[in-house]
Amino acid sequence: MITFEIKLLGNDESFRLKEIKAQTLLQKVWNSEEFKQAILNKTHIETQGRLWWKKEVDVKGFTSTNDTNEQVYACLMSTDHLVIQQQEDDCPDPSTVGYEQDGDPVTYVCKAFTEEMDEYDVANNAAHELCHSLGYHHSSATDYDSVPYFCGNLVEQLAKQADGVSTPNNI
Ligand SMILES: [Zn+2]
Repeated sequence: MITFEIKLLGNDESFRLKEIKAQTLLQKVWNSEEFKQAILNKTHIETQGRLWWKKEVDVKGFTSTNDTNEQVYACLMSTDHLVIQQQEDDCPDPSTVGYEQDGDPVTYVCKAFTEEMDEYDVANNAAHELCHSLGYHHSSATDYDSVPYFCGNLVEQLAKQADGVSTPNNI
């Protein structure tokens, strides 16, 4: 069982509530069978061949990594405690939601965003940054089949599902 600690720095009482909720949601989803199955069964559309032989094929795996689904899942479960902390100051780049540093177990989520985010968004972003700190990347901000984007959105969707909050099917 993997446990997480999310800390949103700031004095605002609503932050306390949000961090506790996000932490509970993330932990519940990350350790669930639904999360495991979604990772193990992940497919994405790949274009194969060229010219008139070109076709789109649904293949197993994620984009932006050569790891198999089994290897991805093993990696996601390879750590038993993670601290996700909001940075106190502003982020270096205003469009950055979060970032992590090599060799630092803490993932940073920028303050400007956490103020606007609800607990599901915080859990989504925490999962996304967590994937980065485990070595997974994405080619762009629309690389939704990459490990960070898929896991983040999956956490949000499963958390809302568990809470009975309706959500558009966006993953
Ligand atoms: Zn990212």
